[in-house]
Amino acid sequence: MSRIVVLGAGYAGMRAIKFLQKDLPASDDLILVNDSPIHTEKTNLHEVAAGTIAPVKITYSIEDVISKRVKFQIGKVTKVDVDAKQVLFDDGTTLTYDYVIIALGFRSEDFGLKGASDNALPLYDIESAEAIQKHIEDQIKHYAQTKDENALNVIVCGAGFTGIELVGELTRSLPRLAKKYNTPEPKITNIEMATQILPMFDQGLATYAVDFLKNKGVNLLTGAKISEIEPNAVVYSENDEEKRAYGNTIIWTVGVSGSDVIADSGFDQKRNRVVVSKNLNLDAHPEVFIVGDVSAVMDPDSNRPYPTTAQISLKQGEYAAKNIAHAEKGESLEDFSYESLGTVASLSEVNAIGEVGKRKLKGYPASVLKKIITNRSLLEDANFGTMLKKGRYDIYH
Ligand code: NAD
Repeated sequence: MSRIVVLGAGYAGMRAIKFLQKDLPASDDLILVNDSPIHTEKTNLHEVAAGTIAPVKITYSIEDVISKRVKFQIGKVTKVDVDAKQVLFDDGTTLTYDYVIIALGFRSEDFGLKGASDNALPLYDIESAEAIQKHIEDQIKHYAQTKDENALNVIVCGAGFTGIELVGELTRSLPRLAKKYNTPEPKITNIEMATQILPMFDQGLATYAVDFLKNKGVNLLTGAKISEIEPNAVVYSENDEEKRAYGNTIIWTVGVSGSDVIADSGFDQKRNRVVVSKNLNLDAHPEVFIVGDVSAVMDPDSNRPYPTTAQISLKQGEYAAKNIAHAEKGESLEDFSYESLGTVASLSEVNAIGEVGKRKLKGYPASVLKKIITNRSLLEDANFGTMLKKGRYDIYH
């Protein structure tokens, strides 16, 4: 009998548990650890932050969807001691394992940029998303009482996937809030250091996204490097000239790092991501699997690590679980391989850009693809009932 411990119930951890409960003999002890009783579909956090969806639509109870044979433990992991084969918790308790899958996810990264952690709102979990939604609404109420113009300025720092999806969603929610409180429509400014946004997409699709957002009134500043966040102002440089954008809402979507447990455990890492073997474990500790946003897996085609996406995390969770089953039987492990099902960036409920193989989608068809991906994840990692309750169907808003 072996004890397999999965740390983290995000995309990678939930998928790993689903495969472990299916593939491992009933005599094995399966333990899933998470710091909260709920799983969050983090690819939809921007919708909660913008206020276009209720938090309950993107969260579900972990215990409701795992098999009875899995022991679910709520706890905050502080360290993994690979030599002692032990997980350490903040309350001083420990948990030993024969195999561990570390899937502890990401945190917001401020790159040490002055004022960012004090003066900008990060977006990385359900609480931070709800805090952003509340802050935006409070500022609109504040304008209604004081006529403080900056209360209607919303600044999103970074135009990566998260920034763009959030800005797209804000173009839907802010006009509704303005109507509710009888104020002028808030203005959105999106500040990005790169000169071209969404470089992972075909140029035509990226241009479509930029045009859509600009037509909605978004002030998209590219080639604008942020150097400091002051209270209610973003300092950035454009063509070597220092400028400021003023606003009472400053949202930080400038990048992410893996969980700090990685550095705290002494792993060889970069931004809390560990380069793992093709089998997703460590050469020196084959019983330690590291998956999702805390891992870096080399893509043999590009010779660079795969990007950190939910889709890749899900696949890694599956491979780690299967490889533990192989190891238990003394079989050789499988090399991680991954075929993208497609990449989609949503721009609103009914608009998105996406690529599936060589097919390029924009507008409504791409938004349908996004809904299919969301529903599929709910079906495969939770269950049919959860997909029915939380899935996306009412597409003609
Ligand atoms: P990111 O790192 O992808 O984007 C951050 C953006 O901020 C970049 O465009 C970067 O150029 C910009 N930036 C960095 N420093 C800056 C500065 N000083 N001034 C101005 N701009 C600056 O981060 P993210 O968008 O949070 O995404 C994190 C990960 O999650 C990525 O790997 C992404 O692919 C993934 N993700 C995927 C999806 C999806 O597949 N739909 C959705 C969300 C996130």
